[in-house]
Amino acid sequence: MLQARAIAYHTASPTAGRPLVPVALSRRVQRVKPSPTLAVTARAAKLKAEGKDIISLGAGEPDFNTPEHIAAAGIEAIRTGFTRYTTVDGIPELKDAIIAKFKRDNQLDYERAQILVSSGAKQTLYNLCMAVLDPGDEAVIPAPYWVSYPDMVMLADGLPVTPDCSAKQGYKLTPRQLEAAITPQTRLLLINSPCNPTGAAYTRAEWRALGDVLLEHPRVVIGTDDMYEHIFWGDEKFSSLLSVVPELYDRTVTINGISKAYAMTGWRIGYCGGPKEIVTAMTTIQGQSTSNASSISQKAAVAALNGDQQCVAEMNAQFKKRHDYIVAALNTLPGVTCLPASGAFYAWADVSGAMAALGCRDDNAFAERLINDAGVAVVAGSGFGAPGHMRISFACSMETLEKAVARIRGALERGVIAKTA
Ligand code: PMP
Ligand code: GLU
Repeated sequence: MLQARAIAYHTASPTAGRPLVPVALSRRVQRVKPSPTLAVTARAAKLKAEGKDIISLGAGEPDFNTPEHIAAAGIEAIRTGFTRYTTVDGIPELKDAIIAKFKRDNQLDYERAQILVSSGAKQTLYNLCMAVLDPGDEAVIPAPYWVSYPDMVMLADGLPVTPDCSAKQGYKLTPRQLEAAITPQTRLLLINSPCNPTGAAYTRAEWRALGDVLLEHPRVVIGTDDMYEHIFWGDEKFSSLLSVVPELYDRTVTINGISKAYAMTGWRIGYCGGPKEIVTAMTTIQGQSTSNASSISQKAAVAALNGDQQCVAEMNAQFKKRHDYIVAALNTLPGVTCLPASGAFYAWADVSGAMAALGCRDDNAFAERLINDAGVAVVAGSGFGAPGHMRISFACSMETLEKAVARIRGALERGVIAKTA
């Protein structure tokens, strides 16, 4: 009977004139919002397609092409028929490349059973939330944070707790804030260094101090997101929490990916190393949702991780040049201040002065003003848990950045004149 009804529904003409029955969506999905970074990117693309002259500084993805030797490995995978399902958790060859990478760059030791390859680190993070959170569990996420963390926690029925890390503290979580944020319900800490959107990175001393707090709270699992490890120019060499505080090995999942370091956002490969129990649980979730990451992309990832790393250094040098330019340029704009970053490819600017001067009620209105009056798409700070800011991605050419700054300056000056006239 049920089946017959379903068939009748599907074969009914959509133009039959019946009133549409509202579909009941889950409470879970109603708690979350679409990703603002992806939304800005899509909006800029749509305006461009309509013929508008838009500079898109929304998307957080390298403008470089995937290096030739990596692309060739993907092509080879297709040519040789490596186009079938693989094991859910990733091919042994890639796991070994990841194990070698963790050893080489982070002095971390893992076995194959402790590695999971996913369709982007975004999926790795989602798997982690689904694996450790029960309804009502709290996850500490220092703000400003990458837009997707709180929503992933909420999709897993958890509650995000977002201590506010201001410019005064370099946008970084202090041990005192961490201690204050942890309650008996806390199950997870998600921490990202270098950080999207601020570019702030924790030093070894800062990791040690945060680690000392975490050692007092054995129930808390830690997810460290090292996605921007190789887009980095901090004073001190890059360090990951676990390489500084190895005592946390049994409850830390170290997350990374190839999207940013190797200009491979579209290939969708992310990975993690962690305690076997957690990684096994994450693998079960992946096995019941998406299965393995693309077989072709896995082969390309092997070439990326095992190949010559010169391409990474070259792209990093370009990002650093752009960073130096954009941070200095933004600080010359009226009502805009921007701290230098240690890594990633975002300029995170406090625009509260400019917002007030233009009479914008919030940073979303300000970003809207920039897209309409300057033809420049940026992401408003609110989505990152920090109203009064904007994020500019400098993963684009110097000429594009120069043009964008000139346009923003023009819009700010015109706006202020119009308001005071
Ligand atoms: N973590 C951070 C901080 C990011 O900015 C991104 C970018 N999307 C990701 C994780 C996920 O990257 P991907 O899914 O492309 O591996
Ligand atoms: N991480 C990038 C960003 O923040 C890519 C978009 C996304 O997945 O959110 O813009």
